[in-house]
Amino acid sequence: MNKTIAVIRGDGIGPEIVKEAVKVLDAVAARHGHTFTYDEVDMGGVAIDKWGDPLPQAMLDKCLASDSVLLGAVGGPKWEGLPGPQRPEKGLLRLRAGMGLYSNLRPAKLWPQLADASPLKPSIVEKGIDFMVVRELISGIYFGEHKTVEQDGEKVATDVMFYAEHEIERIGRIAFETARKRRRKVTCIDKANVLDTSRLWRAVMHRLQPEYPDVAYSEMFVDNAAMQIVKDPSQFDVIVTGNMFGDILSDEASMITGSIGMIPSSSLGDGTRGMYEPIHGSAPDIAGQDKANPIGTILSAAMMLRYSFDMAAETDEIEAAVNKALNDGLRTADMMAEGCTLVGCAAMGDAIVARL
Ligand code: NAD
Repeated sequence: MNKTIAVIRGDGIGPEIVKEAVKVLDAVAARHGHTFTYDEVDMGGVAIDKWGDPLPQAMLDKCLASDSVLLGAVGGPKWEGLPGPQRPEKGLLRLRAGMGLYSNLRPAKLWPQLADASPLKPSIVEKGIDFMVVRELISGIYFGEHKTVEQDGEKVATDVMFYAEHEIERIGRIAFETARKRRRKVTCIDKANVLDTSRLWRAVMHRLQPEYPDVAYSEMFVDNAAMQIVKDPSQFDVIVTGNMFGDILSDEASMITGSIGMIPSSSLGDGTRGMYEPIHGSAPDIAGQDKANPIGTILSAAMMLRYSFDMAAETDEIEAAVNKALNDGLRTADMMAEGCTLVGCAAMGDAIVARL
């Protein structure tokens, strides 16, 4: 296969971690006879310095012309004083909106080698943590009307939670399709005992369900889900939920796996083109020192192969190579433990390539 990947190296540790992910992609391409062509895109601080804009239209156009986008991270202290619309993070929001990325997938996977880093008890961790949060990204309460008005001598504030059936249906389909590539189980998380939007979610999910008879479907209230994620995370495979509940639950889910440098994510819209990035930021405190953990970015590239390019075997190979590097005791500074070998960002990338 020939694929064009828009590569956004970004700021801080972005260029270092993306370099390692590209190394891994090239090695996988060579093994399987694929050609990946990289189109470099400036976004974030680097684009502000070069073009005076965190995401110039020409850069967004490159992303729209690509088969998928791989992003390191953007932002840093140098650009923090700028007014809102000119800040690096604005580039990211414009990219998501410009590409129509309405679904966010974040795996919560605990690598057994890093079990000590989880704040959960060993008795819970040993049952395994490996689930995916599928969050609706461009509707719901964050995008409804927000207003504060004077009423009877005091201020009152309202935030409108809105969902249209088509918005629920498209994220619901992503959840069912994602489950088909995993353990075939979907849990819809909502507050249907109180909210109309949640009752509409359930109605739409019930309509979709017969189309996916091979996927087990269940429902859970969000307050219970927040407890279940720490009590018995092994029960979940794919969680599907709205924008605000997903925001909160996906952070809870990443926390229980222990290490911010290990977690990838993907954002998808209609069609197969997506945007793939680690969940962490540009880590300015360690930038340029070859200390960053590149695994979150390498696993983001692996997600791109699975979800955008339908390359399951290639994805499995990358995940197995990461597993082997961890089994061999290789650790970057953020996850260093007694008896392990400390390696830098580039050496970790090389070690993963060597184990493919
Ligand atoms: P951060 O995620 O960059 O860093 C938090 C801590 O985790 C730091 O101590 C950092 O050294 C460490 N860390 C993060 N990633 C690591 C990795 N791969 N390997 C080893 N250690 C790692 O969060 P922050 O410090 O709050 O934000 C720094 C900048 O990143 C800010 O400008 C913020 O706006 C931006 N940011 C960007 C994104 C994005 O591009 N998607 C996301 C979050 C934050």
